[in-house]
Amino acid sequence: MIMISTQDMSEMNSNPCRSINGAVGFPLCGNEARPERHSAIQMFRSLLSDLRQPSRTLATSRNGHTCETPDRNRLAPSEPSPSPVVQLRDLSRVDSKELVREILRRIGDDPDREGLQQTPERIVRSWKEIYGGYAQRAEDVLVTQFQAEQYDAMVLLRDIEFFSTCEHHMLPFHGKVHIAYLPNEKIVGLSKLARLTEIYARRLQVQERMTYQIAMELERVLKPKGVAVMIEAMHQCMCSRGVRKRESKMVTSCLLGAFKENLASRTEFLALVKQ
Ligand SMILES: [Zn+2]
Repeated sequence: MIMISTQDMSEMNSNPCRSINGAVGFPLCGNEARPERHSAIQMFRSLLSDLRQPSRTLATSRNGHTCETPDRNRLAPSEPSPSPVVQLRDLSRVDSKELVREILRRIGDDPDREGLQQTPERIVRSWKEIYGGYAQRAEDVLVTQFQAEQYDAMVLLRDIEFFSTCEHHMLPFHGKVHIAYLPNEKIVGLSKLARLTEIYARRLQVQERMTYQIAMELERVLKPKGVAVMIEAMHQCMCSRGVRKRESKMVTSCLLGAFKENLASRTEFLALVKQ
């Protein structure tokens, strides 16, 4: 994408033979003729069409004429013009550790100093664990189900500790998840609810979506009569930067089926969670 500030635009208007990279060309287009005023959009379109012709160095005048400029900084005809698509493809071939080294440079440190030499490797290795949830599905952990027999009251696993990463700042957020369901003939081992939490915590997340995903996937796979999920979490992007409120806790909940429709079930869930 090419960005041109309004200042650049006004400079171009005052100097019709300025080429797109700032070099001033010979006024071959003729300054004697009274030029019409073109809008900024027309000027921008004209510049874009110039860019699509890398073999010639062109500048556009206010009256729509183009004039050749003796600009040696432009690419030679044989060289391909750089495009954002090509740059992205090239980045995909760059080693992940090299990308991390570049981040270390950008934040102002030296990736070659002793303490940082192994850091890119450690970070890349940690991604497998921190973002391991992308490779898993709810079916993978809820595969073993047991007959509930006579039991049809609430099953609750409270205070499941989790660590996730905020997708807006790539900073951690952590807290506790409470998951409850009302069985419909089937139950699952309690550790499976903790594993279900891990699947959705170990990715880039927002807490609201994580709450919803855990509830929806438990409902989809186990098909209980109702599901209730509540998450309480502290976000580092709010503690260590921005408003810097260390004690603030975000609470989200998602109620499905009987928990949504039945006040008694909802009240029981909230009472047990707050105990
Ligand atoms: Zn954040």
